[in-house]
Amino acid sequence: MLFWLRTELSGLFNLLLPPCCPLCGTVLKEEAAAPFCSACLAGFPAPDSSCCPRCALPYPLPAGSNHLCEACLRREPPFVFTRCLGLYDANLREAIQRFKFNGAVHLDRPLALLLAASLQDVLHSFRPDILVAVPLHRQRLSARTYNQSLLLARELGRQWRLPAPARLLRRVRPTLPQQGLAAEVRRTHLKGAFAVHGRLNGERVLLVDDVFTTGATARECSATLLAGGASQVAVAVLGRARLRRL
Ligand SMILES: [Zn+2]
Ligand SMILES: [Zn+2]
Repeated sequence: MLFWLRTELSGLFNLLLPPCCPLCGTVLKEEAAAPFCSACLAGFPAPDSSCCPRCALPYPLPAGSNHLCEACLRREPPFVFTRCLGLYDANLREAIQRFKFNGAVHLDRPLALLLAASLQDVLHSFRPDILVAVPLHRQRLSARTYNQSLLLARELGRQWRLPAPARLLRRVRPTLPQQGLAAEVRRTHLKGAFAVHGRLNGERVLLVDDVFTTGATARECSATLLAGGASQVAVAVLGRARLRRL
């Protein structure tokens, strides 16, 4: 009876307030299970089929080999792989920017649904025990009021029934926005910027962030988590920047 009532009521709600695309507001077709409309999804650039397996750097040619990129060869990353929802471009870039800077917190669930779907195949070989978001320093957090990466990690945690603790990894000193800094500066600037609060006991960690550019943040967070007791760290991001500024 209760189940019937719930089903009937959700049908009524859908009739009165039909679900809309969270990016453009178009009414979503009931039969389409995707969290965005097809036009918006078509503008989410898919990750390149040919990319570095460790940092997801897209390669200019669709070569079949999954060899490491130069940056990963020169300095092996502490994380085992990076998986992105798509390239940081077009509609995905627009969605991430709204989610990050324009208070569009309602994008957490639809973006996490797509990210979870893009991670489905790697979960067989890397099953995380815990999800950790790249933290903001408390000064930045109080200015922005929310950490978009934590919202994503929490949504992934809800879907996979995994913990996504907010305070395990902390940014212990404020850092400059990474955008616009040269790769070398980013790396040294982030040294010692993070700390693990408490102790990990061999957990496999999935580190969650919004955008992967040079990987300096992912490297520093992963190294901190491994030093804090994690057994392995992998990285999941929404957008992968196409070019590295080396
Ligand atoms: Zn749309
Ligand atoms: Zn790489």
